[in-house]
Amino acid sequence: MKALVKSQDAPGLWLEDVSEPQIGINDVKIRVLYTGICGTDLHIHDWDAWARETIQIGLTIGHEFVGEVVDFGANVFDVPLGALVSGEGHVVCGRCRNCLAGRRHLCAHTQGLGVQRNGCFAEYVVLPATNIWQHAPGIEPEVASIFDPFGNAVHTALAFPVLGEDVLVTGAGPIGIMAAAVAKHAGARHVVISDPNPYRRALAEKVGVTRAVDPAATPLAEVQKQLKMVEGFDVGLEMSGNAHAFRDMIANMSHGAKIAMLGIPATEISVDWNRIIFNQITLRGIYGREMYETWYKMTVMLESGLDISPVITHRLHWSEFAQGFDAMRSGNSGKVILDWRDVA
Ligand code: NAD
Ligand code: ZN
Repeated sequence: MKALVKSQDAPGLWLEDVSEPQIGINDVKIRVLYTGICGTDLHIHDWDAWARETIQIGLTIGHEFVGEVVDFGANVFDVPLGALVSGEGHVVCGRCRNCLAGRRHLCAHTQGLGVQRNGCFAEYVVLPATNIWQHAPGIEPEVASIFDPFGNAVHTALAFPVLGEDVLVTGAGPIGIMAAAVAKHAGARHVVISDPNPYRRALAEKVGVTRAVDPAATPLAEVQKQLKMVEGFDVGLEMSGNAHAFRDMIANMSHGAKIAMLGIPATEISVDWNRIIFNQITLRGIYGREMYETWYKMTVMLESGLDISPVITHRLHWSEFAQGFDAMRSGNSGKVILDWRDVA
């Protein structure tokens, strides 16, 4: 089958013919329909220090997908052939303390799809049945293909109660924009998102944020005044990984505020801890999404009117993957999805 492979110890990705993945008794085999490109895939493409340390040469990459079930192992009873499914990309150990307690998203030994095991930028992908999410009727396949990053957004946006609160999102990448839309849907009063990139601010405006601000042009303190806020933001969603954004956030939070941090900084960040201590701010790190409460929430929020489709800005054929990676790198994109329906 065709697959997008990290087949050389150098920047780039290569379309190769590889053998189809085999299923074990607990596995499901999925014919891939659409995939999303993630920042992680860009790191693997560009072959930065993290990627060189983490990725085995020969790996098929990709972890955001939707597809249909074409086969399953002898131990699998509840995933029908033809079902429209996505996959939770974190394959957990099942045996650690957190797994045994049902807190699988906190597993200490997860294996990442398209990172430590062959991924979904291919005709077929195989995952354990326990990693399969069957989509509810009516979920659009293109939107279903980005349930993985949508899940990051939902897990972060709902980490703290937002009903009636003023929410600050730093970073209007695809995940920040989806998180802002979720916070609005979940009843926040004001949702302010900051990003220096005008393309992304314009995209954020499409999902109904209160303000999309350029942090260099309009200080957050000024935005607070414009919105007649007096005590600072109640909930912060850090979605940029940028040190300035994070410091700016800490400086604009209310006493007792809560900050959920998803953005991954490239290096260590120093912050004013006195503010965190004296203002009694709670910081919470967020990784991945909950299995499967977040998936449930994603589904029912879509069913109750949340629309994240504006975040999909590029729809490309699988053979145009290089164009997709370029669009991601340019910053002038939301989610870039690849269509694999005719790859066979
Ligand atoms: P992205 O890189 O597309 O978006 C980040 C945005 O932050 C960009 O639009 C950038 O312009 C903006 N930014 C840069 N400096 C800023 C500043 N000073 N103020 C405000 N915004 C600023 O990333 P994404 O795909 O939307 O993902 C968001 C973040 O979450 C990334 O850091 C990514 O690595 C991370 N991530 C974490 C997890 C996890 O499980 N923890 C999962 C997926 C992604
Ligand atoms: Zn575990």
